[in-house]
Amino acid sequence: MAPRPFRLGRARTGLGLFAIRAIKKRKRVAEYKGPRLNVKDALKAEARGNRYLFEVNSRWTIDGKARSNIARYFNHSCNPNIDCTIRSGRVFFYTLRNIKPGEELTFHYGNDYLKNVIGKSNCKCSRCLRRKAKRARELRAVRKRKEVRAAAKKRRKAA
Ligand SMILES: [Zn+2]
Repeated sequence: MAPRPFRLGRARTGLGLFAIRAIKKRKRVAEYKGPRLNVKDALKAEARGNRYLFEVNSRWTIDGKARSNIARYFNHSCNPNIDCTIRSGRVFFYTLRNIKPGEELTFHYGNDYLKNVIGKSNCKCSRCLRRKAKRARELRAVRKRKEVRAAAKKRRKAA
């Protein structure tokens, strides 16, 4: 594989991976690497709090907790720009669209993870933050309209 088109950097929720140059759509960018664990060992690792387990099929799970596994730094997003495919027990990440330099590379961890680990209302991906900001703006607008109406009523009463 060519030198990595991304670098490790500070993201909103810890470390993340950021494109250092434009990356074309459907380009393979990384592999999720680590020892393969059988079901028994994977369950043990999970019980110990390992959050970097990647289940590749009903028999094998990749333990990606080593820092050398760069793919462990992809953060979750509800609007991801990379996805993965599993080929003969190996996990490869590829881009879903053209990526601009500086853009963070993000991956959808799956709805179970979102619900159980992150918590749906706690997600800090850019889409969720944008939605929250929009909701806050709408609420402010509603409040504002109410205030304006109340003020008009007062004026009518005073007149
Ligand atoms: Zn989100």
